[in-house]
Amino acid sequence: MLHIVSTPIGNLEDITVRAVRILKEVDYIAAEDTRHSGILLKKYEINTPMVSFHAHSGKYKVDKILDMLEKGKDVALISDAGTPGISDPGYVLISAVLEAGIEVSPVPGASALLSALVGSGMPMDKFLYLGFLPLKKGRQTLFKNLKDEKRTIIFYESPRRLVKTLHQIQDFLGEVEVVVARELTKIHEEYVRGKVSGVLGKLEERGEVKGEVVVLIRNKE
Ligand code: SAM
Repeated sequence: MLHIVSTPIGNLEDITVRAVRILKEVDYIAAEDTRHSGILLKKYEINTPMVSFHAHSGKYKVDKILDMLEKGKDVALISDAGTPGISDPGYVLISAVLEAGIEVSPVPGASALLSALVGSGMPMDKFLYLGFLPLKKGRQTLFKNLKDEKRTIIFYESPRRLVKTLHQIQDFLGEVEVVVARELTKIHEEYVRGKVSGVLGKLEERGEVKGEVVVLIRNKE
């Protein structure tokens, strides 16, 4: 079967005992970036052979992994960070495997979206996850449609676009509460919380935002 194994989003200690065992037991590990994952595997003395599976892998790679599974091999899917399939290429493989009638099984663990949410201080009983926002087409319409959204809104953003995106949020949604969760589980982990104007002020002061970020929005009641 295909095991969908969550790996750390920064701190290499954030991996479960079961994840390490399964990564040792399977025949192959399908990894987004074999060099990147090599660091984690080395730390936990996991010597299982890796095959690469990334956004540009295409049908040939999917078929190759399907072939391994059909021959009775066990494969673990890991991504560069967190839970495979959440805004990374894992979905393509998971859906192809299920279509071929082969079982999948998740090994839960870290994900940036849940870590950001639980530390945000925003309501977490209901939330809307948007992945990465569209870069151009559809962006404005999306913001307009979020105006009446009552649930906590979460999305992933690149640090380069963050300030521009927060300005768009201010333009379309007004003075909403936002949280920028940055570098979670890493040395420079921080949450920047407050009204969008205040958060923008703090970030613009720095000139450049570095690292990985998750953005959360809460519309006014
Ligand atoms: N599959 C991953 C997960 O379960 O969270 C997400 C993969 S997606 C390609 C990468 C994005 O996740 C980054 O651009 C950033 O928005 C977010 N991210 C990943 N690690 C993070 C971290 N340590 N702190 C903040 N955001 C993070």
